[in-house]
Amino acid sequence: MIEEVPAPVAERVIEIRRAIHRHPELGFEEHRTSALVEAELDGLGIEHRRVATTGVVGVVRGAKPGRVAGLRADMDALPITERTGLPYASEIDGVMHACGHDAHTAMLLGAARVLQETRASFEGTAVLLFQPAEEGPGGAEPMIAEGALDDPRVDAVAMLHVDPRIAPGEISITPGPVNASADELHVTVRGKGGHGAYPHTAVDAVPAAAAIVLALQTIASRETDPLKSVVVTIGTIVGGYRNNVIADEVRMTGTLRAHDPAVRDGLEARVRRIIDHTAAAYGATAEITIVRGYPPVVNDAALAQKFASYMREQRGIRVEALPPTMGGEDFAYFAQRVPGVLVRLGIRSEAAGSVFPGHSAEFRIDEAALPVGVRTLVAFARGVGSGAILNQ
Ligand SMILES: [Zn+2]
Ligand SMILES: [Zn+2]
Repeated sequence: MIEEVPAPVAERVIEIRRAIHRHPELGFEEHRTSALVEAELDGLGIEHRRVATTGVVGVVRGAKPGRVAGLRADMDALPITERTGLPYASEIDGVMHACGHDAHTAMLLGAARVLQETRASFEGTAVLLFQPAEEGPGGAEPMIAEGALDDPRVDAVAMLHVDPRIAPGEISITPGPVNASADELHVTVRGKGGHGAYPHTAVDAVPAAAAIVLALQTIASRETDPLKSVVVTIGTIVGGYRNNVIADEVRMTGTLRAHDPAVRDGLEARVRRIIDHTAAAYGATAEITIVRGYPPVVNDAALAQKFASYMREQRGIRVEALPPTMGGEDFAYFAQRVPGVLVRLGIRSEAAGSVFPGHSAEFRIDEAALPVGVRTLVAFARGVGSGAILNQ
């Protein structure tokens, strides 16, 4: 079958993944990784161009006409010190591929090779989207702004993310929302300082802040439809000077998350109302800043369903439909522009130690999963190219 991954391709994918793993780079600093991607594409005779500083867009043109599939892989690492002890562990202190983006990049290069080598029978075009800075500040938006989806015009886009909830050989495709919006909350509660022995002469910012933290919890428990998902987390709280001084100021930061864009908008208004009025109830004031982050990732329902059936029936791959998560992912911007599908790639294996969640210093990947990822990307390109998984 065309989508079987030849052994030399599978071996090369692992070799590339380990090379990237040894030299992880943070967002918009993926110079070495981009150069590796470009060298590999050059070796395959695949045209490419730079976008968004360290982003690379490659184009594989099938010999037969068809539709255009976008395949996206993120390339950046995290500011984490690796503790896996693997022979190909990070050689860069304090930087680690702990989210699998090394594997995502390597699998996309493997898919590029398979598509290029079988282009005589490939109806359509594959646009390879090697993206910087997924972990922040975000490379998808600048890639799109620089025309990554426009030349040629992409009809549908897919990405893989490794996932330790399912085993190698399995993938998961869930229609609808799969990742949440991730907005930052910054609050400064202001009162009036004073002597700790004379509270009546001051306005204490500490109980006002405490009341705000508790009141915010009612957004999820009392104000949101129990069948919708929201997260309101206060992650930091800092204020005061010493035990016998009344604090004039408390600063807090948090994250606000939702799957539904309408719920996300409502969340912002509710947070502002509760903070403003709770502060006022304590005679304090509050300055609130909400910085909008990535929108929710919403898999196109029809595309997701068709691709899941296609993988099951045409490719014999076991396809789960895992529940969505409240994590963030800037693939959301691609999926807002064209029908998109985020595919989760099973990596869970006790034997390979591939059991840790992403962003753990112990994060490992069972590399047996990688050829399955290559097959999935190739199948998406062919399924879109022929129109088999698109609404005609
Ligand atoms: Zn991550
Ligand atoms: Zn990731």
